[in-house]
Amino acid sequence: MLKEVIYTEEQLNERLAYWQEKLRLQDWIIELRIARSRNMMQDASAAVDWTLSRKMASINILDHIDYPNDIVGVRDMENDLVHELLHLHFAPISDHYGNNNDIYSTFEEQAIESIAYGLIAAERK
Ligand SMILES: [Zn+2]
Repeated sequence: MLKEVIYTEEQLNERLAYWQEKLRLQDWIIELRIARSRNMMQDASAAVDWTLSRKMASINILDHIDYPNDIVGVRDMENDLVHELLHLHFAPISDHYGNNNDIYSTFEEQAIESIAYGLIAAERK
C-alpha cells in the first residue's frame, strides 16, 4: 500500500456499500462521515461507534486536512474504512469481554490490521 488513497465523503459511501456487501454487514445501518479532528473522540485516523442491539453504527474518517504528516506510511482511506467495518464483526465479543480491557483491545486491533491489510491487498491485485 504505497499509493495514497484519499476519497471524498461521497466516494467513501460508495466504498462503504461495496464493503458492507463483501463483508456481509448489510444488516447494519451504517452512517459514514468525514470528520475534523476536533469532532473525533479519539486521536485516530478513523473511529467507529455502534449499538449492537440495533445494529447501528457510525464511522468517522478523519478529514485529510487534519491528518498528521509525521505518521509513517501513506494515508489510505479505504483501509481506514475496512478497518472500522471489521470492528463490527468483533462488536459482540468486544461488548462482552473487551470493554476497557487493554489486552483484548490490543489483540483485536492487531487482528483487524492484518485482516484489513490482506483484504485490501487481495482487492487491488
Ligand atoms: Zn481499530
